[in-house]
Amino acid sequence: MFVSDCLDINNDGHLTIGGIDTTEIAKEYGTPVIVYDENSIRNNCRAFVGSIDKYYNGNGRVLYANKAFSCLEMCRICNDEKMGLDVVSGGEIYTALKAGFPAEKLYFHGNNKSYTELEYALRNGVGRIVVDNPEELGNISEIAKKLGVTANIYMRIKPGIDAHTHDFIKTGQIDCKFGFALETGEAMENVKLAISTENVNLKGLHCHIGSQIFDVDPFVLAAEVMMNFIIDIKNETGVVISELDLGGGFGIMYTENDKPVAFEKYMKPVSEKVKEIATQNGIPVPFILIEPGRSIAGAEAVTLYTVGNVKKIPDIRTYVAIDGGMTDNPRYILYQAEYTALCANKADKPRDLEVTIAGKCCESGDLIQENTMIQAVEKGDILAVLTTGAYNYSMASNYNRVPRPEVLMVKDGKVRTVIRRETYEDIVKNDV
Ligand SMILES: *Cc1c(COP(=O)(O)O)cnc(C)c1O
Repeated sequence: MFVSDCLDINNDGHLTIGGIDTTEIAKEYGTPVIVYDENSIRNNCRAFVGSIDKYYNGNGRVLYANKAFSCLEMCRICNDEKMGLDVVSGGEIYTALKAGFPAEKLYFHGNNKSYTELEYALRNGVGRIVVDNPEELGNISEIAKKLGVTANIYMRIKPGIDAHTHDFIKTGQIDCKFGFALETGEAMENVKLAISTENVNLKGLHCHIGSQIFDVDPFVLAAEVMMNFIIDIKNETGVVISELDLGGGFGIMYTENDKPVAFEKYMKPVSEKVKEIATQNGIPVPFILIEPGRSIAGAEAVTLYTVGNVKKIPDIRTYVAIDGGMTDNPRYILYQAEYTALCANKADKPRDLEVTIAGKCCESGDLIQENTMIQAVEKGDILAVLTTGAYNYSMASNYNRVPRPEVLMVKDGKVRTVIRRETYEDIVKNDV
């Protein structure tokens, strides 16, 4: 029944994560609280790194898409696991540098990087900047010249692939705010511009076709489209692109309806396609990068809440109110994301009550899940929402001046804080 291997039920009938009773965690640390299992995160990192070793002879790199869940400890773990980081803002770069992450293994993405952010990245020796538009290319060139450096860049390409996912998280097609379109000739035009631009070195190409994708085919197709573009670039300009970043988007399990595919199942056919096109055209297999975010951290955390009032509206629905909501998990209000929820202290009981889980904010849409089955809960019970490791804390807000929750990691039977709970003082710290 579980969406993740790190979860189980103990002899008391309580939900455990990494072998630790979640109700004990709730008692000691308070709620809401987000709890990660560190060993599971590391296992995911190793599976991806191992697949680069296996399918590309180690000629590649795994970048953790830091936006999924960014904090000092995640940066340290990824560094420890010999990965790079995909960063999308000055703040994420700052976090990585503060954690002692090597700047040359940072890859700076984003569709509207400010001049200040670009300058900050180049001054600090960020490894690659993934260029989104011609103005940005001009800014990078200008800043690099001023600093007396050459910026290593990638170009973000829209390969025009429909990855059969939710509209809001589909990013490979023409009507998309990210990158250069292939079909219109925009991509080739800007590649040529980049080649002739001073103080930049066009190292590679990047694409990212979407998120929460369960099909293998779109990934293979994206690799094919990108490799063919590399061949076109070679034919038109003589330049052989040596690095190819194929993005992230590997699907994970939120509910029993999700059927994730093992990493190997993507990596193998994608690598075969890349090698096939390289060999046919007599170019070296590029250095391959992949950028898993959700699939590193998503299924490896649960959020624990305390149940407040339970409101039964006869013949309509039952609202179960919790002490958090859209402030720590805005994914339902944003795009009706599905989740599995259960009562942590009644985890062994049947889930026979249909409820709508409501947050505490002054917003009717502040829900975590509608019409979902959980155990018969009462005030004071601990409600666990599973698979909250990605795009939850990183999207958290202080709406209604609700402090952000504490974030914990468990490892080998021990619990530790990785992000402290915000205090009311934190809430007013920037107020003048
Ligand atoms: C968000 C993002 C990722 C990670 O996506 P997941 O679905 O979390 O794996 C990777 N690369 C880029 C450029 C992204 O924007």
